[in-house]
Amino acid sequence: MTVLVLGGAGYIGSHAVDRLVQKGYDVAVVDNLVTGHRAAVNPKARFYEGDVRDQKFLNDVFDKEDIEGVIHFAAFSVVPESMEKPLKYFDNNTAGMVSLLEVMNKHNVKRIVFSSTAATYGEPKQIPIKETDPQIPTNPYGESKLMMEKIMHWSDQAYGIKFVALRYFNVAGAKEDGSIGEDHHPETHLVPIILQVAAGERKELSIFGDDYPTKDGTNVRDYVHVVDLADAHILALEYLKAGHDSNAFNLGSSTGFSNKEMLEAARKVTGKEIPAKMAPRRAGDPSTLIAASDKAREVLNWQPQFDNVEDIIRTAWNWKQTHPQGYNDRETK
Ligand code: NAD
Ligand code: UDP
Repeated sequence: MTVLVLGGAGYIGSHAVDRLVQKGYDVAVVDNLVTGHRAAVNPKARFYEGDVRDQKFLNDVFDKEDIEGVIHFAAFSVVPESMEKPLKYFDNNTAGMVSLLEVMNKHNVKRIVFSSTAATYGEPKQIPIKETDPQIPTNPYGESKLMMEKIMHWSDQAYGIKFVALRYFNVAGAKEDGSIGEDHHPETHLVPIILQVAAGERKELSIFGDDYPTKDGTNVRDYVHVVDLADAHILALEYLKAGHDSNAFNLGSSTGFSNKEMLEAARKVTGKEIPAKMAPRRAGDPSTLIAASDKAREVLNWQPQFDNVEDIIRTAWNWKQTHPQGYNDRETK
């Protein structure tokens, strides 16, 4: 039996494929390479280039492969872009989910593990954020993901397709050996941007806002290592295989770091000065996002290995130093 990973050429998906292969699973990947990289996919996984919304293509893949479960990473995820182009997000993310569930149902594949996000909660009412807290997204990206969760809920009711929604907080880091890592164009996430400054590719870091009601005025976020995150997907798949009901889990560390603290940690890890300046707030940034993540630890038996941000940054820096141009495939895509 095969695990089908949609979006397996992306940052998080490629780490999940790698972990699945390491743990002995048979893996197939579907990706249209719109933001992903062919070179990121472990060579032991079979690769199908195509779009989740292309039902003919997807049906062919499901005909060829004997699929025991699906892990679905394929989506757009840049919040400011979603504010300007909401339909692009509802089309790729939300309509993509409808297409996938139709094909899964047709082929009697009844298990899906899904990349959800802290962005489905919107501005939190309390910290840490619990899975049962209200989900009121403040941007189309978060809305598209919340709609995907709801579509899975109703598909469970109607067709018995069981799901686990994993709501990630801030994902960072890279595989320890530096062979795969984060390579987004444009890059919008804090850790890789800080490391671009450390590497001399950017002049300085702009810290978006220092007047938030936090310990030092900058936003506070909860960082989780990409390999720990990848492992949670495997546990979620096994949880469904054991016959458990659909569920949702936060994936975070339950610890918050401010943007200034992240900068200091990166200065320490890299030994570089990393020039930074204060800049205006970025629209739509909640002040503080910290996960209550005991549910994943208790129910899935998730045991993250990386419990401090310096270790997370160190692995991202190792990837950055060994791959200054990322996968260096922009012209071939
Ligand atoms: P990514 O852009 O690196 O990976 C997404 C992958 O999906 C890419 O390889 C892309 O080519 C592929 N893809 C997109 N649309 C597709 C389509 N229609 N058909 C086939 N393939 C398609 O992103 P990532 O950072 O690895 O994020 C993966 C998932 O995790 C996304 O769903 C994102 O919403 C979610 N997420 C990410 C973060 C984070 O911090 N990176 C946080 C919360 C949630
Ligand atoms: N951030 C920043 N400068 C940057 C990029 C990000 O100050 O160049 C801040 C951003 O405003 C937020 C935090 O870093 O407070 C994390 O942002 P990121 O985009 O990495 O993740 P998000 O929390 O938005 O999912």
